[in-house]
Amino acid sequence: MLLVPCPHCGPRNQSDLRLLGASVARPDPNTTTRAEWRDYLYLRDNPADWIKESWYCRSGCRRYFSLERHQATNEFRVPVLPGDKLGTSTYTSITVGSSGKQPGANSSDRAST
Ligand SMILES: [Zn+2]
Repeated sequence: MLLVPCPHCGPRNQSDLRLLGASVARPDPNTTTRAEWRDYLYLRDNPADWIKESWYCRSGCRRYFSLERHQATNEFRVPVLPGDKLGTSTYTSITVGSSGKQPGANSSDRAST
């Protein structure tokens, strides 16, 4: 189970949100081949690195938002919103499961991208 930092209402249980998937730029349908369109619809990279994901906060603020999540450590990068201080640090999720692996406490690393 993950604690996902909603940029609007703070850290929330993963079950309060819905993961919509990785954010991938949509190709132009007028210039895209069928193979490229199929790749856009069905194929995703699975790097052990940061990916951008879209989430929906269904039990809280009911807003859509994007986060960056590291697929190996489940750390989150929260986007900076106007007037919001959540984006000033990287939040680390709490992993609860059979593996017993917990990535650690909050990190103050700043996203460089
Ligand atoms: Zn929310």
